[in-house]
Amino acid sequence: MSESLVDPASRTVEPAFQGSELEAVDISAWFGKHKVLQRVSLTMSAGSVTALIGPSGCGKSTFLRILNRMHELVPSAALAGEVLLDGVDIYEPGGRITETRRRIGMVFQKPNPFPAMSIADNVTAGLKLTGSKVSRNDRMDLVEQCLTKAGLWKEVRDRLKQPGGALSGGQQQRLCIARSLAVRPDVLLMDEPCSALDPTSTRRIEETIAELRHEVTIVIVTHNMQQAARVSQHCAFFLAEAGTPGLIVEAGPTEMMFNDPVDPRTADYVNGRF
Ligand code: ADP
Ligand code: MG
Repeated sequence: MSESLVDPASRTVEPAFQGSELEAVDISAWFGKHKVLQRVSLTMSAGSVTALIGPSGCGKSTFLRILNRMHELVPSAALAGEVLLDGVDIYEPGGRITETRRRIGMVFQKPNPFPAMSIADNVTAGLKLTGSKVSRNDRMDLVEQCLTKAGLWKEVRDRLKQPGGALSGGQQQRLCIARSLAVRPDVLLMDEPCSALDPTSTRRIEETIAELRHEVTIVIVTHNMQQAARVSQHCAFFLAEAGTPGLIVEAGPTEMMFNDPVDPRTADYVNGRF
């Protein structure tokens, strides 16, 4: 790979991508007869991080999977409502699922790089799936660009041919973020991306999120209230009370949710009282 003094972040293979607005409208969801979400509406603004908080089992992961059409992969799953990406319903008949999943990427709790595949190949692994074409030269630029954005470039620039599985857990998660970025998503969904990581790695991911939010809309599920307060500008509190489906109790600017929430249940939750 050629060395360059140009800031990699300013060097783009294609025009820079930017975040999109994602809007969930009246989403209800079922697994068989079990209703798990009840009329959830939420706007996730471009250029910002939205944190989804709430106890386990209240439907946060289900909601996230609905946002990029992964929910429908479960045979018993059903859904009502709309998900608008820049105003267009991703569930509209005739909509292209592959294109939707390209535009709306996902990072999971457990880092899942292809362990035997090289670090560089991991980054570009999604390109074929989405039908994106990149020339050989541009490919290495893209690898550098995505690893830089994911905050991993300096650590791996001399060992791009080593297997992804040789990296530490925190590095693997940043590799997964780089892989998500390679297909130029508009939205990045992150389901507890730091739950399996140590505090130092967690901080690195948080720094990455803070940088990325200027170009990709981020929705993150987290159980860590300090993390939600640190990384997000908007917050939604999910709750499923006594066998009822999950719903959003309250959503708004993170500042308000933490310092001056409207609902006493929000205050209890963000202050660790349940
Ligand atoms: P959270 O992420 O907030 O912990 P989930 O979205 O994982 O919540 O789960 C919400 C509810 O949906 C739970 O009652 C869970 O048991 C149920 N659920 C999740 N995934 C499935 C599935 N694949 N099949 C059946 N039920 C599921
Ligand atoms: Mg979950």
